[in-house]
Amino acid sequence: MMVQDLRGSEGPLLVVSNRLPFVFQRGDTGLTRRPSPGGLVTALDPVLRKRGGTWLGWPGGDIGIEDALELRGDQYRVAPVILSESEITRYYHGFSNRTLWPLFHSLPARTGFDERDWEAYQRVNLRFANAALEELDAANWVWIHDYQLMLVPEFVRREMSGGRLGFFLHVPFPCYDIYRALPWQSELLRGLLACDLVGFQVESYMRNFMECAERILGARVDREYGVIEYAGHRTRVGSFPIGIDREYFETRAEASPPARSPRRERILFGADRLDYTKGIPERIRAVERLLDLHPEYREKVVLLQIAVPSRSQVAEYRALKREIDELVGRVNGRFATPSWSPIRYIYQSLSHDRLARFYRDADVALVTPLRDGMNLVAKEFVACQVGDPGVLVLSTLAGAAESMEEALLVNPHDVQGTADAIHRALCMPRDERAERMNSLRARERSNDVHAWVNGFLARLG
Ligand code: UDP
Repeated sequence: MMVQDLRGSEGPLLVVSNRLPFVFQRGDTGLTRRPSPGGLVTALDPVLRKRGGTWLGWPGGDIGIEDALELRGDQYRVAPVILSESEITRYYHGFSNRTLWPLFHSLPARTGFDERDWEAYQRVNLRFANAALEELDAANWVWIHDYQLMLVPEFVRREMSGGRLGFFLHVPFPCYDIYRALPWQSELLRGLLACDLVGFQVESYMRNFMECAERILGARVDREYGVIEYAGHRTRVGSFPIGIDREYFETRAEASPPARSPRRERILFGADRLDYTKGIPERIRAVERLLDLHPEYREKVVLLQIAVPSRSQVAEYRALKREIDELVGRVNGRFATPSWSPIRYIYQSLSHDRLARFYRDADVALVTPLRDGMNLVAKEFVACQVGDPGVLVLSTLAGAAESMEEALLVNPHDVQGTADAIHRALCMPRDERAERMNSLRARERSNDVHAWVNGFLARLG
C-alpha cells in the first residue's frame, strides 16, 4: 500500500482498466513489457509517476499468474488481474463485446443477450473490485475506465472510506429507448451511480445517462448542475471529450521522409479497427458511387483503407471481414485498369510511424463511423497535417463531430451525400483547406490528452 503525505487535494491514484497499458513479450530473458502506444498511457504515466499509485488491469491473453510477479512497474505499481479462458470468452468477448458494445453503439440488432455472459461479467467485475480494494489507501483516488467495468464502482464503494471514485465511459451511452432493452439496465446504472464523478465523451451521452437514471431508477436529476442523487448519494456527471497525444503524432509526421512528388494519384485515406461500427462497407460504396458519377477520377484517385484485425472470436466480426473482402473485390473488379486499382486494402495494424506518414500524405481522410464514442483517427489525422492541408470528411455520428465543425460532415448511411462530400473535398481550393485545417489543429492543440486527464481529475477533486 502506498504511504504518502495526503495534505492538499491530491492523493495517490489507482487507475483501473480492462487492459493494462502494456505490450508483453516473451524472450530469452523472460517476460518484458513496454508501454502500449496509446494516448491514455502517455497521459496517465506522468500523473501516476508524480502522485504515485497503481494501474490495475488484465495483462492480455497468455500472461498467467506465474508471470504476475514480473509485472512490477518502474515508477508506480502495475497490478495484474488474471482471467481464465472461460472468463475471457464470457465476460470479454461475450458480455462486453457482444452485448454492451453493439447496444451502446445503438445497434440493437447486433446485440446478443446471454445470462451466463452476464454472470461472468458480474464475477469478473467483483474480482477487479477486490483487487482494487487491496491497492487502496484510505484516502486514495480511484479512476475506473470503460464499459467492461461498469459494476466495479459499486463494489469498491461498499468497502471504501474517504477518497474519490471516478469513472469515464470511452464509448457512447445510448438513448433511453435503446438502453432499456438491456435486461440488467438497473444494475449497470447503480454500478456507476456509486461514483463521485462519471465522465462522458460528449454532452448527448451524458444527457442519455441522466434520462436513464431518472426513468429507470427514479433518481433525482439536476440537469443544470449535472448532479444525480440516488440512494442517498450524489454523483456528478460531466462531458470530457478525450484528446490525443498531439505532439507525439505531429513529431512523427514531421520526421517521416517526404512523399514522392509529383504523385500519380490523390489519396483518400481510412484507418479503422475492422469493426461494424466503423462504416467501412458504407465508405467503400460511397467511393464506388464517386467513381460511377465522376469518371474523371478513375486512375486519379485511390482509397487506401487500413483495417486492423479485431475481435475475430466474435462471429459478427468474421462476417464483416468477408463482406469487406467481397466488396473490395467487386469494386476493384469493376473499375481497375492494368495500371490502377481504386482500392488499396491493407488488413493489418500499422505502426504509428507509418500511420503518421499516411495521415500526413492523405488528401482526404474518410472517418465515417456509423457510431463512435469519439474517434481518435480524426484527431490524429489533423495533428499530422504538417504539409499541404488535406480535408477531413467526418461522420456526424462520431463524438468527434461535436467539436470538429470545420470538417465536411456527412451521414455515413447516405452513400450519395458521402460521395458528394468526397467530391467537394477533392475540389476544395487550397485557401479553404488551409483555413479549415488551421482551425481544427488549433482546437486539438489546446484540447490534447493531457488537458483531458487534468480536466477530469480536477473535477473529481
Ligand atoms: N491505429 C493503429 N494502427 C493502425 C490503425 C489504427 O495503431 O494501423 C490506432 C490509431 O492510432 C488510433 C486507434 O488505433 O489511436 C483507433 O482509435 P479510435 O478511437 O479511432 O477507434 P477505436 O479502435 O478505439 O474504436
